Amino acid sequence: MTFTYTEWKARAAGLTFRNDLYIDGAFTPAASGQRFETVNPGTGEVLTEVARGGAEDIDRAVKSARRAFEDGRWSRKTPGERKEVLLALAALIRENIPELALLDTLDMGKTISDSSTIDAPGSAHFFQWHAEAIDKLYDEVAPTGGRDLALIRRVPLGVVGAVVPWNFPLDMATWKLAPALAAGNSVVLKPAEQSPLSALMLAELATRAGLPDGVLNVVTGYGEDAGQALGRHPDVDCLVFTGSTAVGKLFQRYAGESNMKQVWLETGGKSPNLIFADADLDAAADMAAFGIFFNQGEVCSANSRLLVHASVKDELIDRLRDRASKVVLGDPLDPATTMGSLVDRAHAERVMGFVERAKSDARLVCGGERLTLMGSDAYVTPTIFDRVEPGHEIARDEVFGPVLAVQTFETDDEAIRIANDSVYGLAASVWTRDLTRALSVSDALFAGTVSVNTVDALSAMTPFGGMKQSGFGRDLSLHSFDKYSALKTTWIKY
Ligand code: NAP
Ligand code: MG
Repeated sequence: MTFTYTEWKARAAGLTFRNDLYIDGAFTPAASGQRFETVNPGTGEVLTEVARGGAEDIDRAVKSARRAFEDGRWSRKTPGERKEVLLALAALIRENIPELALLDTLDMGKTISDSSTIDAPGSAHFFQWHAEAIDKLYDEVAPTGGRDLALIRRVPLGVVGAVVPWNFPLDMATWKLAPALAAGNSVVLKPAEQSPLSALMLAELATRAGLPDGVLNVVTGYGEDAGQALGRHPDVDCLVFTGSTAVGKLFQRYAGESNMKQVWLETGGKSPNLIFADADLDAAADMAAFGIFFNQGEVCSANSRLLVHASVKDELIDRLRDRASKVVLGDPLDPATTMGSLVDRAHAERVMGFVERAKSDARLVCGGERLTLMGSDAYVTPTIFDRVEPGHEIARDEVFGPVLAVQTFETDDEAIRIANDSVYGLAASVWTRDLTRALSVSDALFAGTVSVNTVDALSAMTPFGGMKQSGFGRDLSLHSFDKYSALKTTWIKY
């Protein structure tokens, strides 16, 4: 479906926002009665006041999830029965793509063209994929021989806590929920404070699809209270997290200081994009620009470091400047817009801090400006810095904005050394026409995913996650079920 700018604005104006916690199959205010504003960063307007959940609400949600798990209303359904409910949810998501897309666009500033063609359809696809997979996984019988039968089965863990970020609100929630629910767990989800709205609608759709009450609970609120309470709750079996490395480390601490719940982390990145002299420079420039400007650069696996062979650097920079000039920065609700606003003013300030500091140490190729559009100053232009020293903060730290740091290399070994000189290891890209170089460089890179002659290759079929301080555990693919199940042995003598 495609709508015009006027039609999207009319649809946005007609929305009513779900803004209470979702516990035990019903919307309910926070026990404290407190609320917080969620703002549209594209315009600076307050969308609604959302319930501010705290420790008491988390406890209520965990109890509801535990009850649902123990009485087997979901956990003891057959995989085939769970599949049917989650397929119904995928269908409902598809029917509601415009509204779900609008919620994410209004809440965090991503373009409606992306949210309606990537995020919302993606959520339906990921639910469908995990639903279809769950009744095709066979368990094991150990080769004991004799009069013994040792069954090794995957069983659900129990109550899963999920804490997710704001950059892909619906999809990051989906990446956790789809496998966790398919595997038979109950879940308490804490969305990011900047983008709570789509998760609340998703929970309501799940109930309509036939998910029993209590199996999926959503507690909106702040990380320090609701997020921490979930991380420290003594009756949560597993905590899955996507967000910053600093907060990921807090969840490890929360687990260690409470019940030693399992913790799986998808955290930051500073992904390198290696462009060799024999690369197709036009294709490389197209995808390098996509790799840093897509979603305003607010992508954990953004290719934010560009390492290019010195002999082709100038040609590449010319092409990148051209690609940056074609980015249309504007109202996220306008389908012609290709880059929206950053998630909020505070983040725009943080990104501009990096930009201003880099201006004195590196060469600004283009961008580097903060704009006020639609009454909001959360817009940052597509920015490229050349001659970035390896030790500089924009070459090391996650900016999480549309800011590319270009560095050069002379040899393959030097390229690999610079690429791996990072605390992160989420993704990497390699551009070359030489198959041997493509494979040997890919082998040498520390990254969960290496894309060759593309960037950020990703699908439901392949695991996504990091090495080093980009985290551990994988979302997507059949491997995602590993996080949400325990292996249980039943040994029978006969
Ligand atoms: P964040 O600050 O780490 O927040 C992520 C989630 O953790 C939010 O729900 C947040 O709640 C919560 N949180 C914050 N402080 C907490 C605390 N003290 N205790 C418990 N929970 C807490 O990250 P963000 O700024 O939202 O998102 C950007 C980050 O996510 C980037 O670093 C990016 O690389 C990473 N990311 C990683 C992946 C991946 O797969 N590896 C994917 C997407 C994003 P509040 O909303 O209240 O802050
Ligand atoms: Mg918001």
